[in-house]
Amino acid sequence: MKQLDHAYIDGNWHPLQGQNKFSLINPATQDSVAHVTMATTADVELAVDAANKAFPAWSNTPVSERAKYLNAIADEMLVRYDDLVEAHVVSMGCPAHLVGAYHLDCAIDAMRYYGELAIKTMDKIEERENILLTKQPIGVCALINPWNYPLHQLVGKLAPALAAGCTVIEKPAEQTPLADLIMAEICYKVGLPAGVFNLVFGYGFEIGPIMAQHPKINMISFTGSTRAGIEVAKNAASSVKRVCQELGGKSAYIITEDADIDAAVRYGVEDVMANTGQTCNALTRMLVPTSRYQEVIKSAKEAALEQVVADPYQADATMGPLASENQYQIVKDYIQLGIREGAELLVGGIERPTNVSKGYYIKPTIFTKVTKHMRIGQEEIFGPVLCIMEYDDIEEAIEIANDSQYGLSSGVYAKDKAAALPIAARLEAGQCYIQGAYFSMHAPFGGVKQSGNGREWGEESLQEYIEIKAIIC
Ligand code: NAD
Repeated sequence: MKQLDHAYIDGNWHPLQGQNKFSLINPATQDSVAHVTMATTADVELAVDAANKAFPAWSNTPVSERAKYLNAIADEMLVRYDDLVEAHVVSMGCPAHLVGAYHLDCAIDAMRYYGELAIKTMDKIEERENILLTKQPIGVCALINPWNYPLHQLVGKLAPALAAGCTVIEKPAEQTPLADLIMAEICYKVGLPAGVFNLVFGYGFEIGPIMAQHPKINMISFTGSTRAGIEVAKNAASSVKRVCQELGGKSAYIITEDADIDAAVRYGVEDVMANTGQTCNALTRMLVPTSRYQEVIKSAKEAALEQVVADPYQADATMGPLASENQYQIVKDYIQLGIREGAELLVGGIERPTNVSKGYYIKPTIFTKVTKHMRIGQEEIFGPVLCIMEYDDIEEAIEIANDSQYGLSSGVYAKDKAAALPIAARLEAGQCYIQGAYFSMHAPFGGVKQSGNGREWGEESLQEYIEIKAIIC
């Protein structure tokens, strides 16, 4: 049994003394794969001290030198590629052959990208008449991440933070510490100066508030549920630190009457099933014209039944298990709720697929006849569950799409791009994917309403870790 009983603090492996241990369960086998010792307040204090001690030198290291470290980390991520794949398979059940595309490749590119971006922008001084605008790293940053894209979420914060000259303390989600541990080993291997990257394992409800409140942390970047994101913001308020919140979603996807229905519906189904439905920006509300309902359900059913739910090591698996028992129960509860609420189950349900005898597997599930008044039409399920909702005209579609507490992402599939753009402009969301587009790390990512504050990815992400100083001459 693997023991994760050391944190990475001040460039060293620091033994954790806490009594609380978290058992890491492989969601495909339900076997325990590791015990993780959870950090205490004292461990967090050490990490905060280390990050503060490292900040003056790191922030004054020439940006080209910092970029070299980011490139060295990216090179070493390639060396440790197979270990990173394994970490995602055993801790969250992602099919092994999909880990690269879903979790790793973009993260490796991002390490290099933010180094280059910082070289181009950090030292640039903007002049506005007698005013000089300079950029400074914001300081010590706390990064708190969820379990659904462990490495991708870490790098989405770490790469711009390090490139900007910040030092960090990171806390991964309880059940997915393995990729983060490998990243700490990589930082150690490439000789990243001590204290620039510090990693602690711990319960969110225990050490999360300590990190959010801490007066010696200048910024907290949080990704997770809206519930915990609100807690973070409340806890951070007394120290007036910057808070970046990447929270939940229930994103709407409008398919218009004159769209290529089969292509549009297939794209939507595949989008929701990817990563076993555990994607914050998944387009989980598919809004379709009643006039084309029969074609929609035919394509949706076909696309769902093409998914291969199987052991993550099976070569043709497209969906592994859900990441944890807790998430498995939540998703099954929502499916039962949908049935009680009167939605119609087109495919899927709560029974485990017959080709697997254990593990937190759930079939691709599609509900039709969902309305905006149902809880499954409003609440984030975070599993492979698509809700199909009908509309009569495009005004009604936009009204349903925007009738949500969330506003993370959205989608439009119309006759063509020109027809999709005016609809995209009216959707209340941080992103809109049109005509079957895919995630790009160059596009700023983040929410409006209760989906969050701030932006990750794109050039905008670097800005989150920067303070502007105005020098008036
Ligand atoms: P969660 O909020 O329970 O946990 C996320 C992280 O926050 C974990 O590390 C957890 O330990 C920590 N945490 C929990 N309570 C805390 C507190 N009071 N203070 C500080 N930290 C705390 O969420 P989850 O179930 O792990 O993740 C799923 C959620 O994350 C979904 O709602 C999903 O939409 C969201 N998410 C959002 C994005 C985005 O970019 N917007 C990306 C991925 C996931």
